[in-house]
Amino acid sequence: EPVLAVDGLRKRYDDTVALDGVDLAVADGEFVAVVGPSGCGKSTLLRVLSGLEPQFAGRVAVDGTDVRDGGSDDVGMVFQEPRLLDWADVRENVAVGLPADVDPDAPAARERIDELIETVGLDGFSESRPDQLSGGMAQRVSLARGLAYDPSVLLLDEPFSALDRLTKADQQDHLLDVWEERGTTVVLVTHDVEEAVYLADRVVVLGGQPGSVEAVVDVDIDRP
Ligand code: ADP
Ligand code: ADP
Repeated sequence: EPVLAVDGLRKRYDDTVALDGVDLAVADGEFVAVVGPSGCGKSTLLRVLSGLEPQFAGRVAVDGTDVRDGGSDDVGMVFQEPRLLDWADVRENVAVGLPADVDPDAPAARERIDELIETVGLDGFSESRPDQLSGGMAQRVSLARGLAYDPSVLLLDEPFSALDRLTKADQQDHLLDVWEERGTTVVLVTHDVEEAVYLADRVVVLGGQPGSVEAVVDVDIDRP
């Protein structure tokens, strides 16, 4: 049984068909990238997988449970727009991603947050507010928040789009480390085909007919 199972997924917003029959199975520990032109339904697919979008036709299950029945609570999502709490500092924004039963002020949790802030290259900015950060920095706070929960399934919507080249390479490699070390199942949405091929085991191409799978490409590359 795949961790993510999508069968005949259709999603319409009023007159717009966003997804028109998507079938997809993602195995445990797989890293799948979803590419395709703007508007082809990539974000919609992630929102459905995350359980945020319960209005759709077809079957979508995470760990064998239908997302409309609650799905799995072990799914983390990193949004394209960082959506940070603007009244909270970086540390508090990252802490939002911790599991609900973890006290963010407990020493182990504080250490974990510091570590996450460091991995996204924001040491020294723990006390900064979102309005003091650049777009790329805000995006990295959002990434740290998504990793804080250490979910077994991680859904990422263009997580590197606002980063400069060097920071992007760092963060991509960090994501690969997490994936390899934690065995996380990853679905990453990107318009950047090069990024998809570099990171993923398998690349799913949406498009052609609006919001349907055009191709599935197995990527076989040797990473450094
Ligand atoms: P992508 O992430 O590939 O750019 P989206 O999933 O955001 O694509 O959008 C797919 C289609 O659905 C687009 O035509 C978009 O305009 C439309 N759409 C997305 N979200 C909404 C919404 N909340 N209301 C109406 N139309 C939407
Ligand atoms: P309802 O009639 O209550 O909307 P449906 O199961 O027919 O329930 O559809 C649920 C959602 O699935 C719809 O709101 C729409 O977004 C999407 N949907 C259903 N059928 C299609 C289709 N043929 N093409 C695209 N999206 C669809």
